[in-house]
Amino acid sequence: MQPCALIDIGINLAHDSYDRDRVEVIARARAAGIVAMIVTGSTLADSARALALCRQWPGILRATAGVHPHHATGFQAADCARLVELYADPMTVAAGECGLDYYRNYSPPAEQRRAFAWQLGLAAEHGMPLFLHQRQAHADFMAMLREHPALLARAVLHCFTGDAAELEDCLAAGLSIGVTGWICDERRGQALGDAVVRIPDERLMLETDGPYLLPRTLQPKPAHRRNEPMYLPVILEAVAARRGQPPAQVAALTTANAQRFFGFTLSQSSPADDGASLNDIIKIS
Ligand SMILES: [Zn+2]
Repeated sequence: MQPCALIDIGINLAHDSYDRDRVEVIARARAAGIVAMIVTGSTLADSARALALCRQWPGILRATAGVHPHHATGFQAADCARLVELYADPMTVAAGECGLDYYRNYSPPAEQRRAFAWQLGLAAEHGMPLFLHQRQAHADFMAMLREHPALLARAVLHCFTGDAAELEDCLAAGLSIGVTGWICDERRGQALGDAVVRIPDERLMLETDGPYLLPRTLQPKPAHRRNEPMYLPVILEAVAARRGQPPAQVAALTTANAQRFFGFTLSQSSPADDGASLNDIIKIS
């Protein structure tokens, strides 16, 4: 049986843990049914690397361009022009990852809010969809987002880890929701599992957030503990089981949502890009 066609909307493929075998990681993803991946940009340099990867694999990769709240401190007003250049690249399909993270506070909260406010303003000005990160900062995060009503229906909160009440807030505001292998973690996935049932079909997307968040239910576990896109079907199974929907149905709806949300078709190919394009795969599956 053919694997379900899936889109990994959050993969940190520019991360150095993939440097030694990125070609194989992409080949394994394809074999597992992954037809497209959105490479997360978390700093200016990282976003540029993500775009370079897109040029190498234009038939399967797209990128986001943004500054993660962990890196907010280094993000200066002068960097905004560079970010806008990255937005303008046709391979860039969203602004982000950006948002607030008060769990780690690697950058002071005030600096996180400053960097987030700048990026919200730039995304609004340039009509970019938003790829968002939020951890333990729900109230501030929602308040800042609501200052940009036009962005709300074009924003996805990636790696949702909140509870049902936070989810209701996000859904009422119009956000889409990205679900990771966090749902496979029996120690902390219970609230997320309850919340995932409430996400409307048209607002749900799937992601690995690799190399982070290796699904805990994976058997056998890889010795290196690194997550990669080939494990997205494990997340699909967990989400489908929770929602009481057939995996093929969840695959079809999340893939359609990701294509619509990020607004791309993957019809280009290049010598370095030897696999079938997204459109080809969708047709045959
Ligand atoms: Zn994140």
